Amino acid sequence: SSWWRSVEPAPKDPILGVTEAFLADPSPDKVNVGVGAYRDDNGKPVVLECVREAERRIAGSLNMEYLPMGGSVKMVEETLKLAYGENSDFIKDKRIAAVQSLSGTGACRLFADFQKRFRPDSQIYIPVPTWANHHNIWRDAQVPQRTFHYYHPESKGLDFAGLMDDVKNAPNGSFFLLHACAHNPTGVDPSEEQWREISYQFKVKDHFAFFDMAYQGFASGDPERDVKSIKIFLEDGHHIGIAQSYAKNMGLYGQRVGCLSVLCEDEKQALAVKSQLQQLARPMYSNPPVHGALVVSTVLGDPDLKKLWLKEVKDMADRIIGMRTALRENLEKLGSPLSWEHITNQIGMFCYSGLTPEQVDRLTNEFHIYMTRNGRISMAGVTTGNVGYLANAIREVTK
Ligand code: PMP
Repeated sequence: SSWWRSVEPAPKDPILGVTEAFLADPSPDKVNVGVGAYRDDNGKPVVLECVREAERRIAGSLNMEYLPMGGSVKMVEETLKLAYGENSDFIKDKRIAAVQSLSGTGACRLFADFQKRFRPDSQIYIPVPTWANHHNIWRDAQVPQRTFHYYHPESKGLDFAGLMDDVKNAPNGSFFLLHACAHNPTGVDPSEEQWREISYQFKVKDHFAFFDMAYQGFASGDPERDVKSIKIFLEDGHHIGIAQSYAKNMGLYGQRVGCLSVLCEDEKQALAVKSQLQQLARPMYSNPPVHGALVVSTVLGDPDLKKLWLKEVKDMADRIIGMRTALRENLEKLGSPLSWEHITNQIGMFCYSGLTPEQVDRLTNEFHIYMTRNGRISMAGVTTGNVGYLANAIREVTK
């Protein structure tokens, strides 16, 4: 009868808690720029047309059998092409150990468990700041965490010198978590030249790069361009790991479809690693869900649907880029003496606004605008209809 007497309520998730508070607010003016989910210009969730068409084609034609432990072979194949390149020798030579994962989160967690099992004394270096769940994932996998410099608050850009120092000062052979593109929450990515220097220094130090790629396509509008960081590391001969997710770039949030891959030295090693990834997955969830994987393999396996997908990714990215310009222009028009250049300099789904926790509290309490207290604005929640209201409120709390 008193089994759970010692259980205290868990702290609210900083991101999902924002949505809860938003939903509970009866104000007609309320704006949710908290969660990183794409919305159209009416603030409505979007199902991509390529996904709708794939669902029409799938409907009624398939059974509900289990997928293999490693997930859909076809989906994984198409997903690797997006990250490693359409004609990648690594794919041809079967050097990549890859399994379907429970979206990006599941890919990160599976990797963290793999790291713990086979490199039990290793640590993970995580950027400051990062997506808050990274800390939870490696904590629950019992991998000790270290941090490295990433964001420079004064310039609202990259702290490249700090980053490089930390890379140099980490013990040789350290594990680093890198955001492949569209860094969450800062919207700040290294330039191509900086990626080359980072990759070079990783080589010198024999570090392992684990790329979390939750926003491929959302930075530039083109998935192929957004994978530049990974390409540079591959060219330099790194054996990397990648977490991929279709939550954002195919709008499949709730379907939980993604992929974890680890580039190995040869086919034999890849087979061994894959079998171990499957063994880790088996007692956790046995095998991954089938529907989302089928949607992805249907879209990417058909040249016309893939073309439509690329257009729809670009449309989403372009709408967000347009809202960045609109928000900045509105703030400047309102006569704000502060610099808002970073709104348009930053890329991807988020603007790391520089608003303080107190200013965010005022936005919420006085203007019914909801966002995380670190000042992160999800640009996907900004619309033609609310950008003026949002700009005015930001102007008021930064006076
Ligand atoms: N990594 C980063 C950096 C993210 O922002 C997200 C989504 N917020 C994820 C991973 C994982 O998302 P999902 O599990 O929905 O693919």
